[in-house]
Amino acid sequence: MQPRFQQGFHPVFCTIVPPHLLDKLSQSDDPVLAGRARRTLQSDAARRTRRHMTTVARPTAAPEPDDDRSAKPDRTLYDCRHGTDLPGTKVRAEGEDPTSDASVNRAYAGLGATFELLLSAYGRRSIDGHGLPLIGSVHYDEKYNNAFFDGEQMVFGDGDGEIFLDFTVAIDVIAHELTHGLTQYTANLSYYGQSGALNESVSDVFGSLVKQHSLGQTAAQADWLIGEGLLAPGVQGVALRSMKAPGTAYDDDVLGKDPQPASMDDYVHTGDDNGGVHLNSGIPNRAFYLLATALGGSSWERAGQLWFDVLTGGELAVDADFAAFARLTVAAARNRFGDGDEVEAVLKAWSEVGVPTS
Ligand SMILES: [Zn+2]
Repeated sequence: MQPRFQQGFHPVFCTIVPPHLLDKLSQSDDPVLAGRARRTLQSDAARRTRRHMTTVARPTAAPEPDDDRSAKPDRTLYDCRHGTDLPGTKVRAEGEDPTSDASVNRAYAGLGATFELLLSAYGRRSIDGHGLPLIGSVHYDEKYNNAFFDGEQMVFGDGDGEIFLDFTVAIDVIAHELTHGLTQYTANLSYYGQSGALNESVSDVFGSLVKQHSLGQTAAQADWLIGEGLLAPGVQGVALRSMKAPGTAYDDDVLGKDPQPASMDDYVHTGDDNGGVHLNSGIPNRAFYLLATALGGSSWERAGQLWFDVLTGGELAVDADFAAFARLTVAAARNRFGDGDEVEAVLKAWSEVGVPTS
């Protein structure tokens, strides 16, 4: 079967801190915080516009991915030195010793951990399946409160130290952004409405799986948070999002309350944030959490394998809604494991979040 990504190509410009959160920050009584948030929003909007006008190197449907399990990543790290020109000055190439800059070394390790999960668990060589080099730039701009994948490379801000810390501290954030590249090269889910929320959710799922894999955690041991450690001390919250309990990651005077729904009953209808892609992603996120914890053990083995199968299987439409994705996970479970506990667990997980599978 030909991959669906031949039908069109949807470059994603995802910033890990979503627009709704920066909007809230920009309304802060503190003029310094509000000013910084407005600057980040303006800078992100400008970059988003540029992305729409730029042709991203389009994946070519070609040979089957090379699954040489001894493959090594090809990483290059750059330092923007607080400017906005990308990629910046080259500071660490693949195989070179750690530098004296902890941000560089964390980004290098995070890119490597993502490569490692894709290869060791799913036999995929880098995000394109063909060993695509992984490029990261740290110290982007001054006190920049975000991190993003621009279709070609990762970019990390230092955070302002008051609301957010250095964005390289969260390995799942690095993996979330790189997974947008994986989606871009495979199912190519369009970044709007439910397919956009699925795109976001898949990034959170593999973001969390990279973290769990690198720490050797089981589903029961994992924190199921996205961006744990990213909020500065004093902010009332534990992370950017919670897959386990969407809507509970933070509740803070400045940031407001985490607005993610945990089931279809609370689905958010909005035109903002590409139709709430960072909001309604809470629903499929929780379905994955419920499945992984019901199956137990290492989440990337069974639950993660099913999501990977759907993402890369060529059956998922670019504009798929939650129900279409859910049905494919049921089919994938049946295909991989036959009619048994796995299929039952998949059906139950989607049912609990109110997404129909028939
Ligand atoms: Zn994202």
